Amino acid sequence: MATTYFRFKSEEIVPVSDVLADPLQYPEFPPYYYLWAADQRELDGHYHITDLLLGTREAFLKYTADRIIDLDSAAPMLAGSFKHGALDRMENPFEPNIVFKTEHSVEYKGIQGRIDAFYIDYNKKILVIDDMKTGGAFSYKKYMGIVNESVPVVDEMGDPVLYKSGARKGLQKYKTETRLDPSKADTFEYDVQVSFYYYALVEKDPKLKHFTKQLWIHFMLRDGGLAAVQSQGVKSHNFREPVTLMDQRLLDHYILNQKEMLDHALKSGNCPPICPDTWDKKKCQFKYCNVVDVCQKIQALEES
Ligand code: SF4
Repeated sequence: MATTYFRFKSEEIVPVSDVLADPLQYPEFPPYYYLWAADQRELDGHYHITDLLLGTREAFLKYTADRIIDLDSAAPMLAGSFKHGALDRMENPFEPNIVFKTEHSVEYKGIQGRIDAFYIDYNKKILVIDDMKTGGAFSYKKYMGIVNESVPVVDEMGDPVLYKSGARKGLQKYKTETRLDPSKADTFEYDVQVSFYYYALVEKDPKLKHFTKQLWIHFMLRDGGLAAVQSQGVKSHNFREPVTLMDQRLLDHYILNQKEMLDHALKSGNCPPICPDTWDKKKCQFKYCNVVDVCQKIQALEES
């Protein structure tokens, strides 16, 4: 069975079981709440929709390889996990005729999922599903297609503005401009997740198919609104954006295909190829991928 380790700032790597056996020996380990991150699901033949949104390699290694939780990089991820605990304890604050559930487990096509929150008004025939994401401004920019471009500075006549002195004297001045480019918006994994929840609810209660639906992603950004990202077009900590419902056949095809690839890899024990979408390698860091260390060791062997 795979072992989970903690990596401290000192770069010391220690099995979680050793830390638990003698926590006071590790001055960096009063953060007991990191045990939440160490609580890895065991493989029981049931996949979770979030497994199928990972690259197959990442999901395969998550279940089969030793895992290192880097206390520094895992901090933002962990803050997101606590939101689930808070939602789990939440009670319905609405009128009795409103169905409101949080952290609600569903199953669709043999795949499990947990809806952050949904709201059904049977009188008004409205279904609202919310999925919440905590993270950095990067995830929001990716979802919306916010791009930053370096553009030449021009004066009021449209003529290029040049540096007048210094090492770059005579060269064109540039500035960074932010714009929305819908063709760069990458909403796929959000569309899959929320559409999965929608079809799971509709399968259980077919009446909902005829209700007006609102599907949302709620971004709670730790760095939104800070000066560094304001200039990149992210001026708030909090955004609620609509999600597009996927065609049911496309969704089914995608999730069943992902499930089959993961099944095949786990049964054969062969590590799948590197993930098809690594956001130009940005995802291959501890803060976005739990298995980056073992993945890179395998890559080095594959390349040798
Ligand atoms: S390190 Fe990159 S390629 Fe490897 S599993 Fe993680 S995301 Fe996929």
